[in-house]
Amino acid sequence: MTLAQGKPGKLFLLEVLMADLKQEFNPYLSVVIPVFNEEENLAELHARLTLTLDKAGYDWEVIYVDDGSRDDSWNILESFHKKSHRVHLVRFNRNYGQHMAVFAGFERVRGQVVATLDADLQNPPEDVPKLVAKLEEGYDVVGGWRENRRDSWLRKLPSYLVNRITSRVVGVDLKDYGCMLRAYRREVVEAMNRCEETSSFIPALANTFAKEVTEIPVGHAERQSGSSKYRLVDLLRLNFDLMTGFSVLPIQMVSILGGLVALAGVFFGLFLFIRRLVVGPEVEGVFTLFAILFVFVGVQILCVGLIGEYVGRIYREVRSRPRYVVAETRD
Ligand code: UDP
Ligand code: MG
Repeated sequence: MTLAQGKPGKLFLLEVLMADLKQEFNPYLSVVIPVFNEEENLAELHARLTLTLDKAGYDWEVIYVDDGSRDDSWNILESFHKKSHRVHLVRFNRNYGQHMAVFAGFERVRGQVVATLDADLQNPPEDVPKLVAKLEEGYDVVGGWRENRRDSWLRKLPSYLVNRITSRVVGVDLKDYGCMLRAYRREVVEAMNRCEETSSFIPALANTFAKEVTEIPVGHAERQSGSSKYRLVDLLRLNFDLMTGFSVLPIQMVSILGGLVALAGVFFGLFLFIRRLVVGPEVEGVFTLFAILFVFVGVQILCVGLIGEYVGRIYREVRSRPRYVVAETRD
C-alpha cells in the first residue's frame, strides 16, 4: 500500500498546509514601485496605497525597488516590510534608473495583474483599482493618461512629440506613453521579462506584446516634496532609447538617402550624355566628372549606412551584460 492511498497522515496535512500557504502568497494584484531618494513621500504613499488596496478587496502585494537611494528610503521600506507580509523589497547596489527598477520588480511579481506606480505621489495610488477594473473588461494593458498634467510646458511639449512618434513607431496610438501609472496582465509582464535589453522603455515594450490596449484618465498632482529625479540629459537619453530601441528606421533612412543620391548621379550622367550628343562637347567634361563623383559619393553613403545597420544589430545582440545588480532582497 502506497502512501497516497493511506488515510490522511501527517504528510497529507503538511501538503494541505503548504497549499494554504501558497494560496496566501498568490496575490491577485502586484504593485511595483521604483524608489529613488523618496524618503519624504514613502510614509504617505504606503498608507494611502494600503488603504486603497485593502478597500478594493483583493489579495495584493507591493514590491518596492530601491534604485540605489542615498537617503533614508531603504530603512523606511524595511520598516514597512517588517510590519506586513504583503511588502517585498529589492535593493540595487547603485542607481540604474526607473525602468530597470521596474523590470527588477517585474521579475518578482506573483499576481495575475501587475500595476506600476511612481513613489512621488504625483499619480494618486487611489487610481490603481480603476486601472485594474478596466483591465478586467478584457484588456491586456491599461495605461494612465494624465489628463491635467501638472508639469511645466518645458516637460509637456517634448512629451507630446515623443508620444506622437512612439505611437507611430510602436503602432499603438496612446496619448501618454510617459505615465507610469499602468496595469498589465501577467502574460504581458512575462513577455517583457524575456527581453533582456539594457535600455528599454516599458510602456512601449508592453504594447508590442499586448493585443488590447486602452487608456483611462488618471489624476496628476505637482510633486509634493523632493524634486524630479530626471535631468534633461536623462530625458534625452530615454527618448533616444525609445527611437533606436524600437525601430531601425533612422539608420535605414541613411541607406535610403545614399541610394537616392546614387540614383540622382546616374540620371545626371545620362542627362549629360544625351546633352553631349545633342549640344556637342562642353567645358572639357568637368560636369561628367561631377556626375561620376555623385554616383560614388552616393554609393559610399549607402555603404556607410549599411555598415551602420549591421553594427547596430551586432551591438544589440552583444549587449548581454547584466542589466542591474541586486544588492539585497526582502521577501
Ligand atoms: N526613479 C527611480 N530611479 C531613477 C529616477 C527615478 O527609481 O533613477 C523613480 C522615482 O523615485 C519615482 C519614479 O521613478 O518613483 C518617477 O521619477 P520622477 O518623479 O522623478 O520622474 P518624473 O515624474 O519627473 O517624470
Ligand atoms: Mg514624478
